[in-house]
Amino acid sequence: MHYLDHSATTFVLPEAAEAACRVMTQQFGNPSSVHKMGIEASGILEESRRQVAAILHADPSEITFTSCGTEAINTAIFGAAHRKGRGKHIVTTAIEHSATLHACRRLEQEGYDVTYLEPDATGHISLSDLRTALRPDTVLLTCMLVNNEVGTVLPVKEFGKLLRKKSPHALFHIDAVQGLARLPIKPKLWNADCISVSGHKIGAPKGIGALYLRKGVHIAPLFYGGGQERGLRPGTEPLPNIAAFGTACRLRLPQLEENAQHVGALADYLDKQIAQRFPWAVPNGAPDIPYVRNYSFPGCKSEVLLRVLEMHEVYVSSGSACNKGRASHVLAAMKLPHDRIDSALRISFSPSNTTEDIDALLDAVEEGAQRLKRDETR
Ligand code: PLP
Repeated sequence: MHYLDHSATTFVLPEAAEAACRVMTQQFGNPSSVHKMGIEASGILEESRRQVAAILHADPSEITFTSCGTEAINTAIFGAAHRKGRGKHIVTTAIEHSATLHACRRLEQEGYDVTYLEPDATGHISLSDLRTALRPDTVLLTCMLVNNEVGTVLPVKEFGKLLRKKSPHALFHIDAVQGLARLPIKPKLWNADCISVSGHKIGAPKGIGALYLRKGVHIAPLFYGGGQERGLRPGTEPLPNIAAFGTACRLRLPQLEENAQHVGALADYLDKQIAQRFPWAVPNGAPDIPYVRNYSFPGCKSEVLLRVLEMHEVYVSSGSACNKGRASHVLAAMKLPHDRIDSALRISFSPSNTTEDIDALLDAVEEGAQRLKRDETR
């Protein structure tokens, strides 16, 4: 099996699975219980919070566990927008994940005015477009750190600085789901108020996320209940997933640089091999991190190519997993022609990949392309 779709999700690290299993079968107390089992569970909860805080360069008190990245994003966006008397203008980008885009559309229905900054043809968002978009009544700037489809990195440090200057009352939320464990996360340097992350992209199970909320920032919760997570995310904490998330963060933090180097070598190998073997293939976007590559193979519909790759047990995707095969809104926003969008493959790495995975991918692409050409001439 050659899995190259790690931006969609990745395998659970064995140590993270062990931590979850231990909590499920032995340390299964409710962190709110006052007896010994509850106190032990509460200890695991707080230790995990410290581990997540460490990778986010935050204080543990600034971390709230959520059920996924999507919930963290929704909590930040609705929480920031609904602060009383602050204005009704939001700035985001056209290349955000659907969690952000659909939350913003919902706020438009509530009467908010949303500006969607457009990317250039390489998938980058410009600082001068943000400067033009910001207004005195802007309440929120929400953007991603790393784009999940083309691997571009948004200039969050410059965005944060500009926001503080031009719209000092607005909150800055960063969707760092694709950046976690791939780039250093620096909330203070970026002037970030909220940062959303997710466990299943870094080796924890699906169904766990976290929201960083800068000390002193207060937003309303989406849910009401028993007051867990300082009332911002009530509900009994999913401790097995939380313990696994903490463990994954603890393991991935010291490997950041080493992993980036290994994945960098893989991305270079892929780029060179594609240029040699498929000189007619076109790269989409100008990625700033090695973890994501996006190539079009004009004339080869991605959905057909994906089936051929699958027969060889090679797994990539045609875009975001959440779009479920719908044409990519990211590539469309980059104004790529239809046949490029229709033939795009996203290849996303984890440190576990090797050049053998890339060779298997390219052999399968070659077979798929030949098969499609044969079908065409028939
Ligand atoms: N934001 C980005 C950039 C993503 O890639 C994803 C998941 O694909 C999410 C948010 C949503 O995270 P989750 O799947 O944990 O809800």
